[in-house]
Amino acid sequence: MSLHIFIQNGELAIIINIRKFFTSIRTKVFLIFLFVSIVPLILISAMLISSFSSYYQDNTKTLLYRQANTIGLNLNSYFTSGDTSYFSTIDAIVDGRALIVDGTGNVVFDTNDISEGKLIATSEIILGLQGETTYIMDKADNQAMVVVPAFSKDKQLIYGAVIITRSMNDLTDAVYQLASIATLLVIFLVILIIVLSLYTSGSLTKPFKNFLKYTEGILDGRIDKKLDLQGNYEIEEITTSFNKMIEKLWEIEENRQHFVANVSHELKTPHSSIKVLAESLLNQESAPIELYREFLEDINHEVDRESKIINDLLTIITLDKDNDVLNISKVNVNQLIEDVLKRLKPLASMKSIEVVFESYRTVIAEIDEMKFSLVITNLAENAIKYNREYGLIKVTLNADHKQFILSFKDTGIGIPEDSTEKIFERFYRVDKTRSRDTGGTGLGLSIVHKTVIMHNGSISCESEEDKGTTFTMLIPLKFIKS
Ligand code: ADP
Repeated sequence: MSLHIFIQNGELAIIINIRKFFTSIRTKVFLIFLFVSIVPLILISAMLISSFSSYYQDNTKTLLYRQANTIGLNLNSYFTSGDTSYFSTIDAIVDGRALIVDGTGNVVFDTNDISEGKLIATSEIILGLQGETTYIMDKADNQAMVVVPAFSKDKQLIYGAVIITRSMNDLTDAVYQLASIATLLVIFLVILIIVLSLYTSGSLTKPFKNFLKYTEGILDGRIDKKLDLQGNYEIEEITTSFNKMIEKLWEIEENRQHFVANVSHELKTPHSSIKVLAESLLNQESAPIELYREFLEDINHEVDRESKIINDLLTIITLDKDNDVLNISKVNVNQLIEDVLKRLKPLASMKSIEVVFESYRTVIAEIDEMKFSLVITNLAENAIKYNREYGLIKVTLNADHKQFILSFKDTGIGIPEDSTEKIFERFYRVDKTRSRDTGGTGLGLSIVHKTVIMHNGSISCESEEDKGTTFTMLIPLKFIKS
């Protein structure tokens, strides 16, 4: 059973916006700022307020005890002789309300005058009359209270008890004020953080926005400009790397245009020749049969050339497309060379060229047999094509434990020094007319080069004009996929 979720357009937009909000750098920067500043601030404020409040309560407790004990010690003359003169000084000593009860719990003095003569028998007072001191913090009335017993001078008798209560409203007010300051500070900080995070995330995300604009430009076909992002070191690194990629794309595009222009030109040449030959035959009223034959042979030759160019092009395109698709197997290289040379013997014989194959050992290598056979064919064909009559071609094969070395040495026309690098480029020919006359397409050596590189090998060319050329290849015996 499958689950179908139907989302209306509006709902989808909300979901996308929520996702955008939570995944955006802006929100993350804001939340990080908020977390690292507001959370510690709230925690510190709470800790400060709590320690201030307990410090204040401890102080109050000590103070109340001290006051109650002082009064308790001075009640001896009252309880022994009824002398109340001390009572008038109590108001000045006590920070709050003081009550004195006698041994039965009767209030004999109250700084507020309200409870005098009344009987108070709370559990704390009963404990006080039994000699115990008590401190309680009454949260409901928000007041602190101490009860201490009033002893006789010799501490043998308990005459009564002293009770002092003190309102803690001043503490509550102070805590409230502190909390207000902390809240104001938090509000101020939140505003500051919003402004700061908007600014920081804005400057952080600006390069990304510009990058997006740039890539949209590329999608619209504006690929001619380089990326220009100002910002942090990382942004500059990305820009440099991206621009390298753009340069590479430009190079690829330039090569592609060059290649297409070359292909059109190369295909047009035999095509134009065919048209000229056919038209000149058509324009002659009664051309002799020999002329027809001669022109048709030329047309046939041009058609062959055109198909050779198309075949070479197809080979190149296959090599480009299947960059790493090689059909690798263990191949006897000696045998492969002998087969190719045997096939080309009639071509060499037409120019009375002697072909010598010198092999130092049997070489078994992991190569693509079909593609490598094309390499040997192209090099051997060139050695024949660009050789003189009665020339010599020497093919040498040797190997060490890692690679085999295969060279083709001819006694032909040679290649000018400034062209030895370029001959591997597509359609490059030292002498266009000569290459065309010998059925060349200018693609053979680029096929050779590409195939050698695909085998992780290398190829070099040494040549001297009018003396001859040597192509040398180094190919690993074991194929390692790169
Ligand atoms: P082509 O089809 O023209 O032979 P290649 O790519 O095989 O194309 O070779 C490119 C050019 O390199 C040739 O046109 C020729 O000028 C030069 N060249 C290649 N091989 C030889 C050689 N053995 N001797 C002299 N020149 C050569």
